[in-house]
Amino acid sequence: MTSVPSRRFKRGWLETREYPVPADIPAALADLGLQVMRIIGDEANGKCPKHFERTGKEDRHPSWSCNTNTGVFNCFSCMYTGPFVQLVVDVLDISWDEAVEWVRQRGGIERVNKILGRGKYIDELLEEQAVQIFTEADLALYTTPPLEARRKRGLTEASCKYYGILWDKSRDMWITPIRDRNGKLLGWQEKNERVFKNRPFSIEKSKTLFGFHQFEGGTAILLESPLDCARLHSVGVKGAVSSYGAAVSDWQMQLLFEYADLIILALDNDRDGWKAAQQLKQRYRGMGRRLAFYNYGASDAKDAGDQSGDEIRFGVDHRLSPLRVRFSE
Ligand SMILES: [Zn+2]
Repeated sequence: MTSVPSRRFKRGWLETREYPVPADIPAALADLGLQVMRIIGDEANGKCPKHFERTGKEDRHPSWSCNTNTGVFNCFSCMYTGPFVQLVVDVLDISWDEAVEWVRQRGGIERVNKILGRGKYIDELLEEQAVQIFTEADLALYTTPPLEARRKRGLTEASCKYYGILWDKSRDMWITPIRDRNGKLLGWQEKNERVFKNRPFSIEKSKTLFGFHQFEGGTAILLESPLDCARLHSVGVKGAVSSYGAAVSDWQMQLLFEYADLIILALDNDRDGWKAAQQLKQRYRGMGRRLAFYNYGASDAKDAGDQSGDEIRFGVDHRLSPLRVRFSE
């Protein structure tokens, strides 16, 4: 049985979002700091700007191209694709509205109609899953993660079930549902050793908190990876939630301050994780005793999910107060 999720598109979506395209796309790519290596026909080729983030490897060959008429970009290696505004959002790390404004300032507005006028093109864009709607019925195609996969990460079946973590048998991928504050399914993350994808592509993770619906109050432990929440649960540590990365949003922190007595920040044990933790320490200086930091001790594990049960319990039990914690470079 093949388990390809059915494609359901939200009608009327086009009215709610705009897709301006810059007048001069190669110039706009340069403004974004992206190097165009060659232009063949109407495709500008270069190195994929999101390749490392999505695959863990640099794009050594120019796998990525951007159409100089439509602004649609695509990496044939990691499938990073979308409309030009999405590229601006990702590269500059700004909101969709800000990105639309950024493109408009580059003479984009008059080309909106041209793009929207081509029904087929828009269908293709939808087909590229930028705006797919994901439903619970789609999730029903996925199964309980198999023993081999769970064993590699030290996850029990009960913990996967607790967090609603699933498995795509046809592609050997972890499926981690993303829900809004009220529990409504927004999409999910797909992950294996090589690929890491959000579906839909443009999902706003900063307004969601993985594990929030399982959280029973008391101490929350904030991790980067959703799968690591299940790892903590598997060794008997409750209250793990995930921000889906080192970029913890104010929305996520405020939700936690609202529902948790204590937040233990357990971001990754690497440069990005330390930097993010340091910034959060400063940003929430006034929260004093309600904020603490996971204690990695002398461990060089890349994150809490890679640690043993004893190490995880140590990290939580011997958490550090903001006054005591130091982040090395
Ligand atoms: Zn790529």
